[in-house]
Amino acid sequence: MSNTNGMPVTQIRRKDLTFWQKTYIPEIFKGMVLTMRHMFRPKFTRQYPEEHWNPPASFRGRPVLVTEEGTERCVACGMCARVCPALAIEVQAGETPLSKERYPERFEINMLRCIFCGFCEEACPEEAIVMSDEYELVFHHTEDAIFGKDKLLMSSDRLAGRLAFLRRSR
Ligand code: SF4
Ligand code: SF4
Repeated sequence: MSNTNGMPVTQIRRKDLTFWQKTYIPEIFKGMVLTMRHMFRPKFTRQYPEEHWNPPASFRGRPVLVTEEGTERCVACGMCARVCPALAIEVQAGETPLSKERYPERFEINMLRCIFCGFCEEACPEEAIVMSDEYELVFHHTEDAIFGKDKLLMSSDRLAGRLAFLRRSR
């Protein structure tokens, strides 16, 4: 046999199957042995939701607003809303008699938009918005996915693990 240029072409023949290979029995047997071996190994499937998973501090769950002694750290600068690639954050600033002068009168995160990227956390100059360890989000209506301050505020004690992780990794 030759190609279009008249050069000889080497033809590769596949090796003929043996009798046992044609029957597939050894391969079926090997597959069954593998299955049996796995049946007696310890199980590692988590029986969620009965068995809850506690994520490590590096985990990026839903973003929350950090509070200290009942007051949010946020100074309503709007940096988080500016960097959010999903345009999920809305901040409305208000004046406060506290030394920080401004606070978020309204702060909302649309959890249907949020992609858990953590950019808001990185951009915040006050360490006021951080990714929590909460990953269970269930909504029955789209309006329920707009999280206001009532759902976003979380004490710094509850977020101690994440805040320590951020300080270590910065
Ligand atoms: S985690 Fe990302 S997408 Fe979600 S609110 Fe923050 S910046 Fe926006
Ligand atoms: S959470 Fe941080 S970045 Fe966002 S408005 Fe408040 S202080 Fe600014």
